[in-house]
Amino acid sequence: MGTFDFVQLQQQTQKRFSVPESDKLEISLLLEELRAIRSEAETLILQQQEGDRSLIACGPGCQFCCVVNVSITLLEGISIARFLRQQDAADLSKISSKLDQLWCDVRGLDEEERLMSRRKCAFLDDRGCCFIYPVRPLFCRSISSTDVELCRAAVVGQVSGELQPVMMHQFQLQLYKTLFIGVADGLAQAGLEGRSFQLSGLVRYLLKHPDRDEELLKTSSLCWDEIYP
Ligand code: SF4
Repeated sequence: MGTFDFVQLQQQTQKRFSVPESDKLEISLLLEELRAIRSEAETLILQQQEGDRSLIACGPGCQFCCVVNVSITLLEGISIARFLRQQDAADLSKISSKLDQLWCDVRGLDEEERLMSRRKCAFLDDRGCCFIYPVRPLFCRSISSTDVELCRAAVVGQVSGELQPVMMHQFQLQLYKTLFIGVADGLAQAGLEGRSFQLSGLVRYLLKHPDRDEELLKTSSLCWDEIYP
């Protein structure tokens, strides 16, 4: 990790959104860029982790970390909302209900209060797996752990005010943080919405307003009052 140039990666990621003015509203191009960024990151991790991938304890059904606030860009939210709309109507309806309930319970809570509430992410399915795994947020991708019990203790510890360290793969953490900043800055520099939003509130809003994504991306006009009615 010491030799990897994260500054250069962040600059390169920003530049990927410096598209010609006429292409700026081609959401399909922007989503394709995001897909490519995710895919290239997975390849980079496999290349960098040679030999020590077995140390990572994360796996399907483990959900201890899926209780925190997750920040996403509007472009990620659009990607998730479009993915959800392609799913079975019954699944979409179930997710929408869970999002409504979760948002009702956690909106306005800070990180600590959210943890105290012990409310799990609305995208966890009945088996404890991420329903939106192929399009999950960059921040979710940044998390890894070498010990499931440490994750459990960390969540319980945060609630009780005792900080418990969790050993993570530092390259993976830094990589996705860098990409998140690169995407957000790149969008902003291209004159598009680059602010970050809370995952559940934003996706809930986008599912209820399927025709607004292009306009919101272009005008940066989504205000907190609309998400927090
Ligand atoms: S989006 Fe998926 S990975 Fe992220 S917190 Fe929710 S269930 Fe967990």
